[in-house]
Amino acid sequence: MIQLYQPLNFMGMVYREIKQALIDISMMFDILKQPNEIAEAPDAPALVVRAGSLRFDDVHFAYDPARPILRGLSFEAPAGKTLALVGPSGAGKSTISRLIFRFYQPQRGRILIDGQDISKVSLESLRACLGMAAQDNVLFNDTIRYNILYGRPEASEEEMRAAAALARIDKFVELAPGGYEAQVGERGLKLSGGEKQRVAIARTLLKNPSILVLDEATSALDTLTEREIQETLEDLPRKGATIVIAHRLSTIVKADEILVIDQGAIVERGDHATLLAQGGVYAALWNRQRAEQQAAAHAELETETP
Ligand code: ATP
Repeated sequence: MIQLYQPLNFMGMVYREIKQALIDISMMFDILKQPNEIAEAPDAPALVVRAGSLRFDDVHFAYDPARPILRGLSFEAPAGKTLALVGPSGAGKSTISRLIFRFYQPQRGRILIDGQDISKVSLESLRACLGMAAQDNVLFNDTIRYNILYGRPEASEEEMRAAAALARIDKFVELAPGGYEAQVGERGLKLSGGEKQRVAIARTLLKNPSILVLDEATSALDTLTEREIQETLEDLPRKGATIVIAHRLSTIVKADEILVIDQGAIVERGDHATLLAQGGVYAALWNRQRAEQQAAAHAELETETP
């Protein structure tokens, strides 16, 4: 027995080390994905969030100086309101969210949170007030509990379960072997795109950030789950600003203001009804998506009918 114990103990240690290494590698990839080009002043003050409003003031940005991406953007996302960004692929929508997180610095203009220039405050205090649920959220090779609690490690069990329920992942977790202790990733449960997104949304809801950025957050979900999560997000009592980057216009109909971005500039702005009545770029995009949805629904009906 004793002869067996030592090798088993050794293997246990190796296993724990490999597991930790896998977590470290996935965190490293997470960090490497974010090119942090911002030098921080050692005495940079902390951002003081009061209401949680966000303002872009004549922001110009280019990854490569020869190719401008954002051309003098000015807009405000007031606290408690939802601002939606829409526009064709490559218009610069995700670039806007990267600048909010200070992964890059504008070449001209300022980004302000509650009146404070985000380039002047400590990066840690800035990121502490921001939350993001994106298309490609990373899950760690760890338990579902760890992945949700990552949003706010000190949260209680009750708060963690409430966030999972809001993100509609609770039923799935209850059925998974091990429940919240179930491992996900490489060696664990293989989650579908929609399930991964729901875990990521639960993580963000648990963090309850002052400023929330949803970058195509619900794109991998089926229509019914998407609608449910959309309703949850709409009903969430939000103190700060919410910025939604959307491809499907049906998800942002209720936004307080919609900005239509094309080639790095705002070409139209207003709420859904105003933009539809204008009959411009937004209205054309809306009509095209409606036609596509109807065609898809029609095709589905035809395949169902014998
Ligand atoms: P989509 O709706 O397809 O996600 P988008 O509006 O979010 O598009 P961005 O991702 O902001 O567009 O990209 C805007 C432009 O910047 C694109 O032409 C893209 O090729 C370019 N771009 C994005 N990231 C980089 C980068 N790291 N280096 C150089 N160019 C980049």
